[in-house]
Amino acid sequence: MQTPLIDPFARAISYLRVSVTDRCDFRCAYCMTEHMTFLPKAELLTLEELDRLCSAFVGMGVQKLRITGGEPLVRKGIMTFFEAMARHLQTGALKELTLTTNGSQLRKYAAELAACGVKRINVSLDTLDPAKFAEITRWGRLPQVLDGIEAAKAAGMQVKINAVALKGFNESELFSLADWCAREGHDLTFIEVMPMGEMGDVGRLDQYWPLKDLRATLATRFTLLDLPDSTGGPARYVRLAETGQRIGFITPLTHNFCESCNRVRLTCTGELYMCLGQEDMADLRAPLRASAQNIDLQTAIRAAIARKPKGHDFDYSRQAIKGQMSRHMSHTGG
Ligand code: SAM
Ligand code: SF4
Repeated sequence: MQTPLIDPFARAISYLRVSVTDRCDFRCAYCMTEHMTFLPKAELLTLEELDRLCSAFVGMGVQKLRITGGEPLVRKGIMTFFEAMARHLQTGALKELTLTTNGSQLRKYAAELAACGVKRINVSLDTLDPAKFAEITRWGRLPQVLDGIEAAKAAGMQVKINAVALKGFNESELFSLADWCAREGHDLTFIEVMPMGEMGDVGRLDQYWPLKDLRATLATRFTLLDLPDSTGGPARYVRLAETGQRIGFITPLTHNFCESCNRVRLTCTGELYMCLGQEDMADLRAPLRASAQNIDLQTAIRAAIARKPKGHDFDYSRQAIKGQMSRHMSHTGG
């Protein structure tokens, strides 16, 4: 084990999010344009290269890996990558292997994921209305996702639902989403829509539903008990006194929690983003491919962590978007 990764603000980097593909079988309106141009396949790291890179991070103190995308489960052969990461769980070097998915392929893969040691997954689901689901995902179908969630539960995995808070879209479903999650035993986290990537004619400010407003609406029916943070991540949680249910809020816009950020993000081409909301990145593909030894790679990782910025600059105040990123969420991995 190497010296742990510590950034200039004394934050220990113990969490790596890995986007294994930029492709997806959905086209969510806040994430992608309908006719996205994806990277040529030759640009992508192979699954063996992703294994080597992630293993290098684990050797440098990363204890939690979240696999994301694009839609991670549409990458061909992805289970061999999960199997490879499972060996780090077995040695104890890795404490948690998790996944963020749109759920479309869960029926097919849930049992294999569970066998690889995946205990908890995040499924993105913004609405329980089949017509609205088809509208927001453009290509997705709700029954397939609900069936995938059932399969994940049956395989013994804990499912957390992530919903992007979208003004005029799922505002009216706040209580029905919360009730459904309570019945099904899922934690639920709401996310503020972030200015990631150009969306053509979809207006970000029109989509933005500040979570302080959502929280105030929730408080009209429930007593919200603030929970202490346990993840070091950007989510803050409350427990609903009446049902015992846990609800999370990811509020990069109304309140950021960058001071406790413990994570970095690797794209499917080997770019390391030290912050979701900054353009600076380090190319790890070149040192990875330059040598079969990991020395140059480790040096490049340390140099990147030494540049991790204090935080993002997202801001929608005064009805203008600040901190807009040129890349889409599916590139960096949400
Ligand atoms: N395809 C998988 C999924 O949808 O869960 C994983 C990748 S997706 C980019 C990860 C998360 O990012 C999803 O929960 C999605 O809702 C969220 N997301 C995408 N674009 C976003 C944006 N502009 N602002 C906030 N969240 C966004
Ligand atoms: Fe695909 Fe996830 Fe983006 Fe939706 S949010 S388009 S499912 S990558």
